[in-house]
Amino acid sequence: MITQDGPLIVTEDLCAQLVGRQQAFDAVEAVFGAMASGGARNFPVIREALGHADAIYGFKSGFDRERQVLGVKSGGYWPGNTDRGLTNHQSTVFLFDPDTGRLSALVGGNYLTAVRTAASSAVSIAHLARKDAKVLGMVGAGHQSTFQLRAAAEQRAFEKVVAWNPHPDMLPRLASVADEIGLEFESVSPQELGAQADVIITITSAFEPLLMKEWIKPGTHLACMGTDTKGKQEVDPALVSAASVFTDEVAQSVSIGEAQHAVGNGALTEEAITPIGAVINGVHPGRVSADQITLFDGTGVGLQDLAVASVAARLAEDSGLAQRIAL
Ligand code: NAD
Repeated sequence: MITQDGPLIVTEDLCAQLVGRQQAFDAVEAVFGAMASGGARNFPVIREALGHADAIYGFKSGFDRERQVLGVKSGGYWPGNTDRGLTNHQSTVFLFDPDTGRLSALVGGNYLTAVRTAASSAVSIAHLARKDAKVLGMVGAGHQSTFQLRAAAEQRAFEKVVAWNPHPDMLPRLASVADEIGLEFESVSPQELGAQADVIITITSAFEPLLMKEWIKPGTHLACMGTDTKGKQEVDPALVSAASVFTDEVAQSVSIGEAQHAVGNGALTEEAITPIGAVINGVHPGRVSADQITLFDGTGVGLQDLAVASVAARLAEDSGLAQRIAL
């Protein structure tokens, strides 16, 4: 039943209509800052194999006290969905009134997950990449890759995209986005990608290194975005330990992020990893030399989801396009 005081229903279509890249960037940048200053906290993640439909299901939740955003993203990965014409990653965000615990909004999480993940690597580029970066390297060409490319392209005056993917047949989707946004595109080997790129985004489901340390030139910024589970890996641990490492959340970086391997083999310590929020807040200088390799370990935190979902809910409310239902 439609009502005036029940939770707001914000559909996937509305999210895509209302939340653009800039809003996602601003929300993610702000919440990373709040996480680093102690104003926002992620709660322990639950992630379980269901033993049904090969699915992984879980919850990511947290509370941003600064912006009064409380909630949970529930969902996961259903590999058989493609055959049903559905997205493999499925999620929904539940927002609660922090004063009463009442459900305040139900927000579709699929588009928002893509846009908040793209915002994460974009925030890292904005704060850590060299200002004169010209060539953007893309490793990965799946669903997320075009979101990452579009958001990254807005952070520096890039002239060219070089791309490599373990499955080369997927690269045309990146080529067409590069063409659409006016960037030259070249499909290259991973070695050539390292030799040309000033900024590299990795966004694959790899379980072994795709990029080796000796292929990466001094001054490169890497945003490693694909590794979000124990066992996954996209780059050489020697590259991680040679870089200045930044992350969304240190606890996730060392357990499920790209840094898990370098920390696991003793080449990197947890203390050497800096929350990017410290750079955003001006507490850490970030990049300090033109030759330094910076690496952002983007593991994906619940507060990112809540941040963009609260923006979607606010814009939906203001626009009058969403309905409330009685529970
Ligand atoms: P997708 O299934 O659409 O694409 C998968 C990509 O990984 C493709 O480029 C594919 O060629 C490559 N790939 C598949 N199997 C591989 C293997 N065994 N070795 C190397 N490469 C392989 O997935 P997507 O939605 O584009 O997501 C890509 C990755 O990003 C996933 O691992 C996903 O879990 C992760 N992800 C991370 C975050 C975050 O916040 N850090 C958010 C969303 C997705």
